[in-house]
Amino acid sequence: MIEENQHFETQAVRTQTDKTQFLEHSTPMYLTSGFVFEDAEEMRASFAEEKERNLYSRFSNPNTSEFVDKICKLEGAEAGYAFATGMAAVFSTFAALLNSGDHIVSARSVFGSTHTLFTKYFPKWNIETSYFKINEVEKVESLIQPNTKVIYAESPTNPGVDVLDLELLGEIAKKHGILLIIDNCFATPYLQNPIKFGADLVIHSATKLIDGQGRVLGGVTVGKKELIREIYLFSRNTGPALSPFNAWVLSKSLETLAVRVEKHCQNALRLATFLEEHPKVNWVKYPFLKSHPKHEIAKKQMKLGGNIIAFEVKGGIKAGQVFFDSLKMCSLSANLGDTRTIVTHPASTTHSKLAVEDKLIVGITDGMVRCSVGLEHIDDIIGDIDQALEKL
Ligand SMILES: *Cc1c(COP(=O)(O)O)cnc(C)c1O
Repeated sequence: MIEENQHFETQAVRTQTDKTQFLEHSTPMYLTSGFVFEDAEEMRASFAEEKERNLYSRFSNPNTSEFVDKICKLEGAEAGYAFATGMAAVFSTFAALLNSGDHIVSARSVFGSTHTLFTKYFPKWNIETSYFKINEVEKVESLIQPNTKVIYAESPTNPGVDVLDLELLGEIAKKHGILLIIDNCFATPYLQNPIKFGADLVIHSATKLIDGQGRVLGGVTVGKKELIREIYLFSRNTGPALSPFNAWVLSKSLETLAVRVEKHCQNALRLATFLEEHPKVNWVKYPFLKSHPKHEIAKKQMKLGGNIIAFEVKGGIKAGQVFFDSLKMCSLSANLGDTRTIVTHPASTTHSKLAVEDKLIVGITDGMVRCSVGLEHIDDIIGDIDQALEKL
């Protein structure tokens, strides 16, 4: 039995679906698309939602329910729904709650595909978005219109590792009766719980630190019951459901989230401190370095600094590429939140199509490197990055 007041680690380990008649210790995989009924009356009552039970795995499944229940406990949320990917969670959340003519106020720095939803697809349905710069959270109020439905943000941001004041956003949203939706992917529920600061809904790409081992895709939205009900009804009809296999993997991953994230953060702080002293590095941005412009806010809302560091190598885009070609261990990949340390060079890859001024707005310079610090021994991570910096 798990008690309401048990600690994060205990809830992550002990939240489980009911045992079967075999009394297994570890939750089995329920790879079944559908479920059977005792008789016609049970089937009728189930479809009429008079009875809460699994009908079909597009709606719910014991593995996805276990995963969702855990995330709800870890985020302090009432209810949730799990998706095949983080982007399915982002899209379905907006699609379920917004109508044609509604307006979104969003941070300028959001995940690339989320930005594409706002700029390319939502206008097709007459949903417009206004943006605020990461360092101008106080301007959010001036962007609110009578038809504004949602304030949307991520913190820390990708790839600039900026930090937004969630409490301030929560106050603004509440004052104007607007929903606050936070993509909490970079922090994970272990480091930050946006609901405490007034968020109505929290979204995760479970593909990142929640899986933490670069294996499966997944996403989840949790928050107020009545909002999740709308998201559930939309999703059970449109089909973005998480597969039971991936849900099983992700629920297992959550059992070790606390210990993994602790170590990720420890390694990241060590690397950030090393880089700050390095003569080939212009600047380092990491929420738990005193030099971070929003260090005090980071300490207020985050338990530790996360596993993502941004830094700039001296010598611009060419130096950035030499640095990348000189790495022997760290992976060059667009992913993040893996056991393996990953580095990316946004200016020549993920953000290469942005105009220079737009790159600067989201904190990208030519020599900027984003590092997702992994779980290798810290001396080996620092060693590899140091020998690559020596080549510049
Ligand atoms: C990766 C990511 C997403 C999208 O998640 P997928 O699982 O890749 O679809 C959304 N938001 C943030 C902040 C991310 O890092």
